[in-house]
Amino acid sequence: MKKSYNFSAGPAKLPADVLKQVQAELLNWQDTGASVMELSHRGKDFDACAIAATDDLRDILKVPENYKILFCQGGARAQFAAVPLNILGNKTDADYINSGYWSQCAAKEATKYCNVIEQNVVVKNDGITSIKPMSEWQLSDNSAYVHYCPNETIDGIEIFEQPNFGDKTVVADLSSCILSQPIDVSRYGIIYAGAQKNIGPSGITIVIVREDLIGYAQKVLPSVLDYKLLMDHDSMFNTPPTFAWYMSGLVFKWIKNLGGLSAMQQRNQAKAQLLYQFIDQSGFYRNTVAIPNRSIMNVTFLSPNEELDKKFVSEATQANIIGIKGHRIAGGMRASIYNAMDIDGVKYLIEFMKQFEKQNG
Ligand code: PMP
Repeated sequence: MKKSYNFSAGPAKLPADVLKQVQAELLNWQDTGASVMELSHRGKDFDACAIAATDDLRDILKVPENYKILFCQGGARAQFAAVPLNILGNKTDADYINSGYWSQCAAKEATKYCNVIEQNVVVKNDGITSIKPMSEWQLSDNSAYVHYCPNETIDGIEIFEQPNFGDKTVVADLSSCILSQPIDVSRYGIIYAGAQKNIGPSGITIVIVREDLIGYAQKVLPSVLDYKLLMDHDSMFNTPPTFAWYMSGLVFKWIKNLGGLSAMQQRNQAKAQLLYQFIDQSGFYRNTVAIPNRSIMNVTFLSPNEELDKKFVSEATQANIIGIKGHRIAGGMRASIYNAMDIDGVKYLIEFMKQFEKQNG
């Protein structure tokens, strides 16, 4: 069977063990004689599966009791609108931290619903990008919340500091770093993440929301995005993407079996370190993010010129390395090394990079 090394930013590589399990039980799930995707979301079998997934996620992320876990639809982008419409209440302003492409998109969408106070925290120095420390972020007194994106998937930028802004409600888009390392959920009002990187197949979005923020939705908020309705209906106000939910549950179990988020963090740091070290010593490739802000999930790199970038991507594909092309707005290359990518995959990529450098350097 053909094997690819998949560095796609999302939908991304899934754990092989999970895919094998899905394959084994695809036609006869839990001895029902049917596929999980053919069964009612209201039946007892799927209900048990949905609850187990929720409980396992609560367990691995250590989500406190006063937080609800919602399984939503519409991707992370739907949350760009859902957040202000759910929690603005009678306020009009919201702080938006701009650290790269996705946080900008969130701010842009929010301007439809509130007065966005946008703050750029990106610092560029001699071609190297870094992020201002949180202590220098200026938050306004009257804002309903502050929104930021700890891992900028396209830019390869990560903010490792944990938020600490007193009473200010913190909303974080964790789409590309959720479950990559332990976090203190109690520091956030809302965490949301599209599934297609570290959780499961696309189609489901996890929202973790502190209970006291629920129940203040604007009248115009579509019901399917209303946290209160979703909570009251156990995320089954309308038909959920059952297959994606089931598979996410298998991924949560896979993470648990490997030792949880501390184990994930160790694996992820080791992979990222290997790749960044190689890039830094090569003299041929370069990464343009300051060391404290280098993402451990999305490693961006450039060759000496655009022609060589193109050649790299094309020859990598022939070597069964897929999904390595940088995002069209960033150019260059990007290796997304989410939880499911193992260190051997990273070593394979580095070997290819060495060969390419030898032939083109
Ligand atoms: N936020 C971040 C950080 C992302 O990486 C992405 C997708 N790559 C999105 C938001 C948008 O997610 P979706 O396509 O699920 O709406």
